Amino acid sequence: MAYYVGMLAPHYTHFYPRRPVDASHPEAVIDFNRCILCELCVRASRDVDGKNIFAVQGRGIQAHLVVNTPSGKLGATDFSIRDKAAQVCPTGAILTKHRGYEIPIGQRLYDRKPISVVGDVATLSESKGGRRHD
Ligand code: SF4
Repeated sequence: MAYYVGMLAPHYTHFYPRRPVDASHPEAVIDFNRCILCELCVRASRDVDGKNIFAVQGRGIQAHLVVNTPSGKLGATDFSIRDKAAQVCPTGAILTKHRGYEIPIGQRLYDRKPISVVGDVATLSESKGGRRHD
């Protein structure tokens, strides 16, 4: 939808704090600035993976995602890119390393055709650019 209406960049100054990026894990990066506190990774890690790696700490504007280790670093956990928690983030806050921009800008699904033509990606096969969300 954002592509369709031309929303390609934020227009207002962000008022939330700038948070560090954690690249301490060999397979994944967490960009805490992208996190919307949906808690999908928290529940997936706790309820599916049985690892309890993530939690939300603080309230209101102070609320933020934390990693359950003394250092707060993902690299100090037994997190795996095969974990459910690694696959559920809707914003790309939890990213797989070495795969950024796998499809170059200009060749992505909605770069080629508008969403009004492509429709719901969940109904497309992966070979046609579809992507299923669990
Ligand atoms: S799934 Fe992503 S957006 Fe949701 S709480 Fe976890 S890191 Fe944040």
